[in-house]
Amino acid sequence: MGKARPLTAPSTKTIALAALVIIILLIPVRGDAAPLLRLGDYGDSVAQLQELLVNAGFDPGPVDGIFGPRTQAATMSFQRSAGLVVDGIAGPVTWGALERLSGVSRGAGPLRGRTIVIDPGHGGPEPGAISYWGDKEKDFTLGIATKVRRYLEDQGAIVVMTRYGDYSPGSDWSPRPDELLARVSIANSRGVDLFLSIHINAYPKDPGVSGVMGFYRAGSWESQQLARTLAACVSDSTGLRYIDTQQGPYYVLNNTYMPAALMEIGFMTNWNDVSLLRQNWFQEAVARGLARGVREFLNR
Ligand SMILES: [Zn+2]
Repeated sequence: MGKARPLTAPSTKTIALAALVIIILLIPVRGDAAPLLRLGDYGDSVAQLQELLVNAGFDPGPVDGIFGPRTQAATMSFQRSAGLVVDGIAGPVTWGALERLSGVSRGAGPLRGRTIVIDPGHGGPEPGAISYWGDKEKDFTLGIATKVRRYLEDQGAIVVMTRYGDYSPGSDWSPRPDELLARVSIANSRGVDLFLSIHINAYPKDPGVSGVMGFYRAGSWESQQLARTLAACVSDSTGLRYIDTQQGPYYVLNNTYMPAALMEIGFMTNWNDVSLLRQNWFQEAVARGLARGVREFLNR
């Protein structure tokens, strides 16, 4: 027989645990669509946030993956010091600023000190093009962008993404954000060297069309060089046909101030491209090509 347990009031630990369980039960409703971190959230991404705050010289309490009041206070102190909106919510802008800050002190490699903004096309309620087989452009663009980010960071670059998950950029500022304006605002932060927008093309008239295209800002020789280099490198690393590089009348190209390219990698209307884009190894190959192109362009 085990020891009899004395009947006492629940300890604070038990109450905290019960509160946590309630929070855990409530959170999954928000699912992947709400990657913003705020009071009451928990998990690996909260721990990552806490680590970044510690590295930046703020005190979020223990790095335990629980977004409690101390983590919120540290987030607000950081936002205040960085000149951001002080709301205690870690959205893309706060993440980007934290990563820039920690990257500055950690970076090493051929891209050391370079800041690159990667813009995964679409997101949240905007799926982008949808293939005949149900694949969404927004998923492929995020998958590729996340991999490019890693390759660039491995070379010492500081990488800021316009979105880190399946949501609209800017949704931490407004429930109905102007997502294009948000993408451009993030890109036009101080010290950004290069803007890379990632999309997948669609050409319903001819499902046989496949390949890579690059778009650049009209009148910008640098952007043209960037788009050409990226298209050539992706074609090299993936075997996709290099179709063309053209001026693109796109908002994100016309309203950013640094060399900028919008890459259309494969076609959502082509079965072969879609079946490749579904594969992790293929997304890696695309990402390697883009990262090589960025390095060649910046170190030209
Ligand atoms: Zn697109």
